[in-house]
Amino acid sequence: MHMIANWQGSPNHPRFISTRWPWHDVRGLFSLRAGGVSEPPYETLNVGLHVGDRPHAVLQNRSRVAAWVGCGPETWVVPEQVHGNRVAVVDASFAGRGALAVETAVPDVDALVTAEPELPLAVFAADCVPMLFFDPVRRVVAAAHSGWKGTVGHIAREVLSCMREAFDCSPADVRVALGPSIRRCCYEVDESVATMVRAEFGARTMVSRFGRPGKFLLSLQACIRMDLIAGGVLPDHIEDTGACTSCQADLLFSHRAHRGRTGRQLGIVCLSGGDGVKGQELGRA
Ligand SMILES: [Zn+2]
Repeated sequence: MHMIANWQGSPNHPRFISTRWPWHDVRGLFSLRAGGVSEPPYETLNVGLHVGDRPHAVLQNRSRVAAWVGCGPETWVVPEQVHGNRVAVVDASFAGRGALAVETAVPDVDALVTAEPELPLAVFAADCVPMLFFDPVRRVVAAAHSGWKGTVGHIAREVLSCMREAFDCSPADVRVALGPSIRRCCYEVDESVATMVRAEFGARTMVSRFGRPGKFLLSLQACIRMDLIAGGVLPDHIEDTGACTSCQADLLFSHRAHRGRTGRQLGIVCLSGGDGVKGQELGRA
């Protein structure tokens, strides 16, 4: 088993938790494959309801993650995730949208923003980049899903704009965490994608692939980082788990490495209300 440097949790329940996000203020984590009940090819902690896994197993897996975060799985708010760049602001009236069924997810968006305490925002991915945002000053959180389309559509910047417009967030206050996702070591794209990336981010986020003309290795994470910094986020406030889903396909779901038949891991974030002691005990146990 490969080691992943900065995960916390027991060996049976590994997950990525930023040590710099105070758990009593905000509870956020990225899940891995281990610790669930799903059968192959979704073994074991698949949280995606839309990938062909048994819904009962998925909901059991979501309950486990919810317990780690200290929230009810029935309260999660989930965006539909359509590989776009649209962002929705949600409040308590959205609680449970997409939590128990795909059909009730917040339609046509890939990112959610809220200032509501105890309203968990969840995004799912298996190569795309799950992102979590936290503004400790305005007390606002966001979750986003960014594949190459969302990245080229500057969804990271769209989230920052939405946080500013809706809640007067200053980007210099915003913390961002990038979750496990496919990285430049493994993420081959063709000329058509490369052209779009080049137009938005320049050529530095890609390298030509040796011996494969017209193929490039792309760093979505570098593009997103450029977007965040251009949007006013401080470089030191951007954390990246550094884990490549494809390199570490034994620990993480990877759409490419598993040739499409696989589960999803998640990024989830929840503003703590009250003293947050419950969350602290559960998350750091
Ligand atoms: Zn890799």
